[in-house]
Amino acid sequence: MSPARITLKQGKAKPFYARHPWVFPGAIDSVEENLPDGSEVEVYSAGGNFIAKGLYNSQSKIRVRLYTWNADQSLDKEFFKTKFQNAIQLRTDLGLINDESGCRLVFSEADNLSGICVDKYGRWLVAQFTSLAMANRREMFFDILQELLNPDGIYLRTEKGIGKLEGISLQDEICRGTPPDGPVPIVEHGLQFMVNLSEGQKTGYYLDQKENRHEVGKLAQGRRVLDVFCYGGGFSMHALKYGALETVGIDQSASALNLAVENAKRNNLGPCRWILGSAFEKLSELVEAGEKFGLIILDPPKFARSQNAINEAIKGYRRLNSLGLRLLEPGGFLVSCCCSGLITMDMIEHMLALVGADEKRDIQVLQRRGPSPDHPVSASCLESHYLKCIITRVM
Ligand code: SAH
Repeated sequence: MSPARITLKQGKAKPFYARHPWVFPGAIDSVEENLPDGSEVEVYSAGGNFIAKGLYNSQSKIRVRLYTWNADQSLDKEFFKTKFQNAIQLRTDLGLINDESGCRLVFSEADNLSGICVDKYGRWLVAQFTSLAMANRREMFFDILQELLNPDGIYLRTEKGIGKLEGISLQDEICRGTPPDGPVPIVEHGLQFMVNLSEGQKTGYYLDQKENRHEVGKLAQGRRVLDVFCYGGGFSMHALKYGALETVGIDQSASALNLAVENAKRNNLGPCRWILGSAFEKLSELVEAGEKFGLIILDPPKFARSQNAINEAIKGYRRLNSLGLRLLEPGGFLVSCCCSGLITMDMIEHMLALVGADEKRDIQVLQRRGPSPDHPVSASCLESHYLKCIITRVM
């Protein structure tokens, strides 16, 4: 039986010829009746030309996710296995895979596999689905991962918010092999970090900031460092390694700070302090107390989840960065991160210009950085360039 047919509206086909993988409802003219969610579909232009094949979900705003532009290719196990092999080959070529460290092996749109991420921590894998159709095929993906990597175990983790948007209701659990005894230690630029695969945020760790943590750490020599939204204290550990006088981390999650304490103990570095609470509140308190730092890292969670939320999100970033500047001594470094895919580097730089004007400070951009190389960016889906990290000096 050939896949169901989806026809686009007149004038809506262009992005999909350009290989953007997300088809929103506004582009769709017709869908076959009673098409089950998760079905393989063929997408056609209004003029009746084949464009691409994808997977359908009536519950998601991303109605169809596209995977191949070849009409003869079916979306079967062999097809996905080749995509996984390509993704793993990239990380192998970059020298990123070994049994001691962490690495993102598969990154959704960036690897032409919209809706699945796979992270490797030591000998364990953690799979996270952001698409119902892909989640429905999970046993096939676990088979592929076992065939390619033979891990000690595979965890399944689903983010609650995303599960809701897609209609995925899965339990977080170990699906193949055996669980580790406890959190898994990984090495990052010579430092040890503990990763809790079953309960940590995301898949247990923020692999995307790996190179930024290292680069930012190098600026810390002789400075007091403020690590805002610190999670397990990654930026703090790197700063201490490079000679920070002291680090202060802020996070609203108690379990994140427990992890930070454990990481600090394992690495046995200089003095670090952790503050539990809302970043905005705690920053205001530090401002009031007249505290000053020579290096401040702001690494907030995603503020913009939809196009309508962009303006509010920019206001949030502006408020946050203003607070940061008030705590930064002259000649200090401000590291401003943003992980909203809908907000571009230009928008962040414009926001920083406004913040400089608000606070009457000169801001010099030193580095415009993205995520670590195991998080590539798909040229045809720039939303995959979600992480921006701008390193600045402020007089
Ligand atoms: N910098 C970290 C990753 C940060 S992820 C690293 O390099 O590993 C974002 C963090 O912000 C999470 O740990 C989350 O618990 C925390 N967070 C989210 N909202 C917050 C808020 N309003 N105040 C303080 N922390 C918050």
